[in-house]
Amino acid sequence: MKTHHQIIIVGGGTAGIMTASLLLKKSPLLDVAIIEPSDTHWYQPAWTLVGAGSFNYNRTKRPMVSVIPKNAKWIRDSVVSFDPENNIVITGSFKNYSYDYLIVCPGLKLDTSLVAGLPNAIDKGVVCSNYTNPNHTWQVIKNFKGGTALFTQPPKPYKCGGAPQKIMYLADDYFKKHNLKDKTKVVFATSGDALFSVTEITETLKKIVNRRGINVKFEHELKKIDSKNQIAWFKVTEGFKEMNPTEVELHDKDKLVGIKYDMLHLVPPNTAPDFIKNSPLVDNSKWVDIDPYTLQHRKYPNIFSLGDVSNLPTSKTGAAIRKQAPVVVYNLINLIELKKLSNKTYNGYSSCPFITGYGKMVLAEFDYDKNFTPDPKLMKRLFIKDSSQEHWRLWVLKKYILPYLYWNKLLKGIEI
Ligand SMILES: Cc1cc2nc3c(=O)[nH]c(=O)nc-3n(C[C@H](O)[C@H](O)[C@H](O)COP(=O)(O)OP(=O)(O)OC[C@H]3O[C@@H](n4cnc5c(N)ncnc54)[C@H](O)[C@@H]3O)c2cc1C
Repeated sequence: MKTHHQIIIVGGGTAGIMTASLLLKKSPLLDVAIIEPSDTHWYQPAWTLVGAGSFNYNRTKRPMVSVIPKNAKWIRDSVVSFDPENNIVITGSFKNYSYDYLIVCPGLKLDTSLVAGLPNAIDKGVVCSNYTNPNHTWQVIKNFKGGTALFTQPPKPYKCGGAPQKIMYLADDYFKKHNLKDKTKVVFATSGDALFSVTEITETLKKIVNRRGINVKFEHELKKIDSKNQIAWFKVTEGFKEMNPTEVELHDKDKLVGIKYDMLHLVPPNTAPDFIKNSPLVDNSKWVDIDPYTLQHRKYPNIFSLGDVSNLPTSKTGAAIRKQAPVVVYNLINLIELKKLSNKTYNGYSSCPFITGYGKMVLAEFDYDKNFTPDPKLMKRLFIKDSSQEHWRLWVLKKYILPYLYWNKLLKGIEI
């Protein structure tokens, strides 16, 4: 069995498949292997809609074999460690694979162990997360009969900056449509100190939150869950800001503040996978250490990284990967053919389709400096003047157009 490949890609998720397909489209004779243990490829961005009963979960997955490019080799194994000095990766079945170039993109880990009580509470009863089981979220929302609906947001970085909030807007809309609003208090307890990082979007979200009377508690970091008594415990910054204060049952113990809930949607803390954290590839924050513009590893020039596992200081999304993959591909091909990088660079572009209710969406597109950067071509095609305002056509984009483009263009190596 061949154990050397010109290019090895670690991970066949959004980043791995987009990059492999684009590489082979540009240069079909490259010898590319993808090390990926799972037999299923997921389209996670639709999980927000699944959690609100507006998308079929089975349509968010496809067999891995159907997305791996035909001229790439699939090694069905997991990487457990790296020896970058000798250009070797070691897998779970004790095999060593050597490479000329390596692309590292195994995504991130949802670390439930960082919140006391969470491993036992998650996805059971009234505790749910779109990040782990969006079908359960939908059951919890459907079965909610009123009371405190609590939504939390972990400290950055976590994948998809808006996802912890989007499901709250959808749930709030669902409660309104089912005449539950009068007996419901929707509370958003976020570890951040603002609703979002892009001014234009934040202004819109503020108006939505005020219009719907959602209680936002800033600087609340989830530390513990007492699922028996339905209390979520937070570390709270003294003098924290609040929007639309409302009366909810509060507790106080061991310097933590407890909020009693009748349903809880949360996002487990996001970290790099353990085999990445323990590798020589990471920076002090334990994410893969790459140049933010060229996406080349800072210490090992034959290694690139992209996607959720990288230390890029932008929001971790599939939309960001759409712009990162071409930079990795052009740089790598240039490095192979001309021994130098291309002049293509990444500007931190990321985007967050902020669903604000059934049939409504705001589109946050931005760069490293948090400038609002709507794509003029897309706006023209959708006949939209200002994507920082809610629009039904943006919902159509999210629900129908983006999934189509993902499976049929981006995963096939077609740049859009
Ligand atoms: C609820 C939710 C909503 C979201 N909404 C949006 C949105 O609206 N828009 C948007 O753009 N993005 C959204 N995202 C984020 C987006 O899905 C991720 O940013 C994207 O999938 C990251 O791609 P990735 O390739 O880095 O990781 P992944 O797609 O997670 O893939 C990682 C792959 O690596 C493999 N792997 C893991 N360990 C190993 C190992 N040891 N060896 C080899 N392979 C390994 C895994 O099996 C997996 O296939 C959302 C995510 C969630 C959870």
